[in-house]
Amino acid sequence: MQETDNLQQKIVSLCKRRGFVYPGSEIYGGLANTYDYGPLGVLMMRNIQNLWWENFVTKRKDIYGLDTAAFMSPEVWISSGHTANFNEVLIDCKECKQRTGAEKLIEAFFENQGKSLKVEGRKEEELEKIITEEKIPCPECGSFNWTKPRKFNNLFETHIGIVPENRSLNYLRGELAQGMFVNFKNVLDSQRPKLPFGLAQIGTVFRNEITKGNFIFRTLEFTLMEFEYFFNPNEQKWEEIFDYWKKEMKDWIVSLGISQDKLRWRTHTEKERAHYSKKTEDLDFEFAVGFKEMFGLAYRTDFDLKNHTEKSGADLRYLEPESGNKFIPHVVEPTFGSSRIFLALLTNGYVEEENRVVLKLHKRVAPYRVAVFPLVKNKENLVNKAREIYEDLLDKGFSVDWDDRGNIGKRYFAQDEIGTPYCVTVDYQTLEDSTVTIRDRDTMEQERVKIEDISFRL
Ligand SMILES: [Zn+2]
Repeated sequence: MQETDNLQQKIVSLCKRRGFVYPGSEIYGGLANTYDYGPLGVLMMRNIQNLWWENFVTKRKDIYGLDTAAFMSPEVWISSGHTANFNEVLIDCKECKQRTGAEKLIEAFFENQGKSLKVEGRKEEELEKIITEEKIPCPECGSFNWTKPRKFNNLFETHIGIVPENRSLNYLRGELAQGMFVNFKNVLDSQRPKLPFGLAQIGTVFRNEITKGNFIFRTLEFTLMEFEYFFNPNEQKWEEIFDYWKKEMKDWIVSLGISQDKLRWRTHTEKERAHYSKKTEDLDFEFAVGFKEMFGLAYRTDFDLKNHTEKSGADLRYLEPESGNKFIPHVVEPTFGSSRIFLALLTNGYVEEENRVVLKLHKRVAPYRVAVFPLVKNKENLVNKAREIYEDLLDKGFSVDWDDRGNIGKRYFAQDEIGTPYCVTVDYQTLEDSTVTIRDRDTMEQERVKIEDISFRL
């Protein structure tokens, strides 16, 4: 335990020190469960999102991209069941007024004793019974004096000023999926897609979570990358589509360098499954704090399109061109949390070696693909040559860092710590024969390469 806490702490501190992630609103003492991405964090996050989009949208003929509004008609959330079912059970300590998620309270209590009990989705009364029987104390003050547990909706409420007072209540979206469902007919009418096909988007969702979040693992707002994959349940078995996406999801994250042995699938129990799902599996990654959910895969049946058809009155059936049959397709939904991927890649890549800390990030994920240095900074001809190479690599579309501070050893150390896969150094020999050294982050080996060949080696 000591060691893993340690690893998490080291990652958090590296993130802040090197500009990956900062605590939210820090100069005002912070705001719990919020974080801000810094200059390097943004570069890495964009890489993750672009790689996802390229793999699941651009390269596929059967998936269409969307970008829908975060504000939707409140009726969407009533139809989807979120106003009724999107809840967390909370309990307050009467002594110190600390508010706690009842499920987390119980699970943490058992975990501390080396046991495991999953209580997600259980009723308030059941949770209360366990807390009373086990006499679970307040983690803040240690006393045992709780209010009754009660349900608390995770949708953020807000008010929109442009509609009359009594109808102004609105919600920040609690999931991306509804934007895909409410546009299903628009896409059918405009693109004429044939089943099976998917609708994908990347966007921020908001959840009013009370549970403390383990750094960026659980936050009030987070960016999901998700698609709904629609199919004809009379022609294709949902199990086959489910298994197909299961494999694609895992293959993709493994292709970014995550080790197989740090991944495992976990099936949701009936009680913890969301109200719309017939089967859900999570792809868990072994974070510093243990195996936790990174991706989710859910079979949502025709639950959403059917509800929206009934409640909006729009005809959301698909017309099969060959048979003329009209029906509501079923859907399988792969969901990817981008900040969880971000944290998983940092955790997976963090290595301490004798004289250095290295982030062994996949070269397509790392904030910078390459750094360029002049051997010394007070020799104008070296600096000019290095600048030329730097500009040229930027023109070729690489993300490039420039560093002329301190000595070469310090620069290598700094680049290793932010995961830059290659460092190019311009030295005196460069001026004679137009070659540079390229140093590999992982092997630390250096090779002399012609300037015109640099981009092929990155
Ligand atoms: Zn207390």
